[in-house]
Amino acid sequence: MMRVFGVFGDPIEHSLSPPMHNAAFRALGIKGCYHAFRVSRPRLADAIYGAAAMGFGGLNLTIPLKEEALRLESLEVDDLAREIGAVNTISFSADKGEGGAEYRIRIQGHNTDGRGALLALQGAGVRVRGSRVLIIGAGGAARALAYSLDREGAEISIANRKVQRAHDLAASVGGTGFRLSDLDRLVSQADVIINATSVGMREGDGRMIDGHLLKSHHAVFDIVYNRETELISDARSAGAVAIDGVMMLVYQGAEAFEIWTGRRAPVDVMERAVRERLEKRRRDEVGG
Ligand code: NAP
Repeated sequence: MMRVFGVFGDPIEHSLSPPMHNAAFRALGIKGCYHAFRVSRPRLADAIYGAAAMGFGGLNLTIPLKEEALRLESLEVDDLAREIGAVNTISFSADKGEGGAEYRIRIQGHNTDGRGALLALQGAGVRVRGSRVLIIGAGGAARALAYSLDREGAEISIANRKVQRAHDLAASVGGTGFRLSDLDRLVSQADVIINATSVGMREGDGRMIDGHLLKSHHAVFDIVYNRETELISDARSAGAVAIDGVMMLVYQGAEAFEIWTGRRAPVDVMERAVRERLEKRRRDEVGG
């Protein structure tokens, strides 16, 4: 029987997860289909319990539901997701009662965003353990990154526009918080530079880092994935390792896929599906 998977969020129309996961199911011959569902915050509990009752294979959650999920009473949240304060992946499993009868559906919450980011760095040959990592941003994605990179042994600095958020996040991972006006100095001291803000999503957003400060020994990771940002093109010009946000999207999806199916995710297939969809969108925009 075909198993249904999905992503819940609002807005959700532009999610790249359906083409990415459907390509993975096809490549491995798994009978699965993945849809995007528009679910508002007050409807989250009903939607998750409904999906569990209907035998869904698994779910992803995105804006604005990742933090909301922690309030659900019967969700078993794993340690990393609880630390980060957000759930982006849900798995279902049925406990067997007497005679093999199903008596309870376990609903478990995970966070694969941070691990996705870590795998994106490692996949590009970046050494994280012992490296000086500068994270710009202190929102949800920055939190996932900070906790995962801290667990991996990175030395973390965090710079954010609202500086108190940088201090708070840094304190929770044993790092140091800074203002954006400290960025020039921080860049010169860092091995790995990560943009975890939404700056760069729109053309004309401009730069937070002067391109001349980037050097060939840097690894630069921009988690924005909808376009090639100025930061990524500056990093390429400087001869630095440049990693775009598509790889984090793909690896967080691959981690979720492996939780649901127990199969190794076809990362190359997933990456191709995402890049093709982004390219199609670009062509459609240019074509009006
Ligand atoms: P969020 O929780 O709303 O946090 C936004 C962050 O961006 C905050 O640190 C905010 O600073 C900063 N920011 C926003 N506008 C800014 C500006 N004009 N100047 C300086 N800083 C600014 O959002 P999020 O969920 O962390 O997502 C952030 C970005 O990551 C988005 O572009 C999202 O698409 C991307 N993302 C990518 C992946 C992936 O898989 N590649 C996964 C998750 C998110 P303040 O705290 O000062 O407001």
